[in-house]
Amino acid sequence: MTETTAAPEDKFLKPWHGIPRADIPWHPTVDPDVCIGCGTCVVSCSRVVYRFDFEHKKAVVADPLHCMVGCRTCASTCPANAISFPDRDLVLALEERPEVRHAIEDELLARRGQLSLADVLPHPDRLVQLRITEIQDVGEGTRLFRLVPHRPEDCMCEFTPGQYLEVWVPSTDWMSRAYSIGNAPKPEGEVELQIRRLEGGRLSGWAFGEAKVGDVVTARGPLGAFTMRSAPDRPLVFVARGTGFAPLKALIEQQLAMFPKREMHLFWGATASADFYDLDAIADWLRTDPNLRVTLVARSLDAGAVLPDGAEVRVGRVSDAVAASGLDLSGFDAYVAGPRVTVRDSVSALEGRGVATDRIFADSYGV
Ligand SMILES: Cc1cc2nc3c(=O)[nH]c(=O)nc-3n(C[C@H](O)[C@H](O)[C@H](O)COP(=O)(O)OP(=O)(O)OC[C@H]3O[C@@H](n4cnc5c(N)ncnc54)[C@H](O)[C@@H]3O)c2cc1C
Ligand code: SF4
Ligand code: SF4
Repeated sequence: MTETTAAPEDKFLKPWHGIPRADIPWHPTVDPDVCIGCGTCVVSCSRVVYRFDFEHKKAVVADPLHCMVGCRTCASTCPANAISFPDRDLVLALEERPEVRHAIEDELLARRGQLSLADVLPHPDRLVQLRITEIQDVGEGTRLFRLVPHRPEDCMCEFTPGQYLEVWVPSTDWMSRAYSIGNAPKPEGEVELQIRRLEGGRLSGWAFGEAKVGDVVTARGPLGAFTMRSAPDRPLVFVARGTGFAPLKALIEQQLAMFPKREMHLFWGATASADFYDLDAIADWLRTDPNLRVTLVARSLDAGAVLPDGAEVRVGRVSDAVAASGLDLSGFDAYVAGPRVTVRDSVSALEGRGVATDRIFADSYGV
């Protein structure tokens, strides 16, 4: 007896985190010349995306928009490798849109009762109250926040350079956001956060809006393992874009304090040369460590830009500057921080210059 195929349900067509499903071209494509007609995909897909052509023994994609955005299960289980999908970057680019992030965040919060881990274990991380003592606009769309412990027990005196804090926007239910600590530990527990403005962003909207000196924020941390893993005799290369500079600054400060003549090379990328900040600190570093090189890479150079003596300046993308540097970086350990695409391209560029893949440590701020 032949069973009738169940009609796919309308629920599979509902918007994906606020974006109409019809606007998202994510679905499988079957190469009929490669398909061996095993039927695995047809019977396995719970969304009934496929039908089976019994005459030719081939899988057919009949309801492409019922495919779950980001799912690739049928491709993973196809024994003939006949199924392809768009590049994963398509989904990641959607996730970078603030309305998508916010729809996910709002759904998590709304369904907290259902989705919350039932057995809440005591959290080992510290919750601290930090008071803003200084807000400084640096470059286009970046603000430096200096924060000090609000109470003695809130001291951020001990952390490992490269770590970050989770910060909550005061007076909201939103979830926390991560920010790298932009300094090595100080005895008085002061921390610097470098916050970039993101159009439509919730925390950065607060940072560039209501936030003011004297405000007290709740933070959790220190967190993260993007810390120094290199033996003291290994030369280091650092690559950052934008506020990816923050954890690298902390790592470089740490190295200069411990090994003042260490061989290090910093590549720092920004949109325009006016976006670079902390240039006095960089000038001091260059004076302290004769073996430190700094390459500042901007997409455009502003007339009259004053950059530190001794720093090299390049025009373009930071990953391209690494690739075109002509340096032999074999034997170096690399630390890379910044947006997802910069991290991806910089890792390739570093490998191209001879850095061993397992000696590249990366911290992506991406989605
Ligand atoms: C370990 C870690 C350290 C970080 N350190 C810093 C830091 O030092 N300085 C800093 O400015 N940010 C840092 N970030 C990113 C930060 O946590 C927030 O994601 C960012 O500030 C946006 O928060 P928001 O509330 O303003 O935006 P949201 O309301 O969360 O919306 C942000 C939207 O912008 C998109 N977006 C585009 N580009 C980026 C990007 N580069 N990063 C994040 N979201 C992006 C997101 O995908 C999202 O859709 C770090 C992230 C991680 C995971
Ligand atoms: S990717 Fe997942 S949802 Fe999409 S067709 Fe394949 S199994 Fe079905
Ligand atoms: S799993 Fe692959 S080989 Fe099998 S029917 Fe589907 S597409 Fe064809």
